Amino acid sequence: MNILLLGSGGRESALAWKMSQSPLKTQLFIAPGNGGTAAYGKNINLNPNNFQAVKDLVLKENIELVVVGPEEPLVKGIHDFFLEDPDLAAIPVIGPKKEGAILEGSKDFSKQFMQRHGIPTAASRSFTKENLEEGLTYLQNHALPIVLKADGLAAGKGVLILENHDEAQQELKLMLSGKFGEAGTTVVVEEFLSGIELSVFVLTDGENYVILPEAKDYKRIGQGDTGLNTGGMGSVSPVPFATKAFLDEVEKDIIVPTVQGLKKDNIDYTGFIFFGLIKVGEKPFVIEYNCRMGDPETESVIPRIENDLVELFLATAGKKLKAVKMNISPKHAATVMIVAGGYPGDYEKGKTITGLENIRRSTAFHAGTIAENSVIKSNGGRVLAISSLQDSQFEALQSATADAARIYFDGKYFREDIGFDLM
Ligand code: ATP
Repeated sequence: MNILLLGSGGRESALAWKMSQSPLKTQLFIAPGNGGTAAYGKNINLNPNNFQAVKDLVLKENIELVVVGPEEPLVKGIHDFFLEDPDLAAIPVIGPKKEGAILEGSKDFSKQFMQRHGIPTAASRSFTKENLEEGLTYLQNHALPIVLKADGLAAGKGVLILENHDEAQQELKLMLSGKFGEAGTTVVVEEFLSGIELSVFVLTDGENYVILPEAKDYKRIGQGDTGLNTGGMGSVSPVPFATKAFLDEVEKDIIVPTVQGLKKDNIDYTGFIFFGLIKVGEKPFVIEYNCRMGDPETESVIPRIENDLVELFLATAGKKLKAVKMNISPKHAATVMIVAGGYPGDYEKGKTITGLENIRRSTAFHAGTIAENSVIKSNGGRVLAISSLQDSQFEALQSATADAARIYFDGKYFREDIGFDLM
């Protein structure tokens, strides 16, 4: 079977690495891929948001399965595009249609969805320009801190946590007058929840679901989770504080009502659901839904999945997940992200990367890299995800960190404390 994977990050490297091991795979294409994905298949330089280019490739290479890594093509309707085209309609796409991707694409929608289906989440109200005055009064009486969220996709920057009422009112006005463009036409005002965050993932065929390993990611640039927010500096799986009792509660209170809620709302969903959760006391609450896997969570989750990933995807597309038994490794995975100097601010690209052959106990999942005449160069802010799977969490963390230190490029930086707070 010929398979196409869309995307270019560390997440896609991990998915490609795993799918390339499947006996069901004939050829794997990654579009556009990165400097590392060519080791698992053939890179094709196209933009996944250009659906016509994706179609041309699918027809040219007789693709029989399409896996969508990032959210943008999903939110823009790539799955719908396939279904509406007679040449493509029979080709399974892993990733929801627009109607499902809106769980990530609109925070206002996802809050209403959770409220409608009794899924635990922070109390909230949404405001637009039309009811700005009401919003300002609402904020005046809101407990501090106050969370303001732009409704649409804002590349992780659309969430503000304000410590006083004046600032919150100021920000609401700014957001509703276009601070985040279209994404901020509606703003969700949310109660602040205090707890510890983790991510849980399922793959669903719209009827049934399988639960994938949970993970915790580290968002801030600095040691001790300090400094600016990033796309993610590392991850671990399993998560020590996610006990069996807690995960059972997540399944009962969150996963089941979400999958059933989608069905009740006539949203036919095939693909990943990423539950961004916060554990408040012993109780799980949903912070956000995403319609795809996380990055760098995937780089710790995928190595623990022992099932054939292509088989899982085919069962998802064929609505046969009920019959699937998940085999999850009891081992511990840790991922350390190596980033470019300056990231998440300005940074330089094109730095030659050396030492990849020196890593000992990890897999280097490429993210922002490019191969130029067989020289690997940096090509983004997050450059390489170094993942290690070991018998204990300590060993995994130590191996990933030690291997991250064996790789060199000018200005490289990584956090040396990923996961050590959980030990
Ligand atoms: P990302 O793309 O980084 O996942 P996002 O823009 O989709 O972010 P959210 O995940 O909803 O937005 O929020 C970003 C972060 O803000 C969360 O990971 C969490 O740390 C914090 N946050 C969001 N909502 C709340 C809340 N109600 N209480 C406390 N913290 C919150």
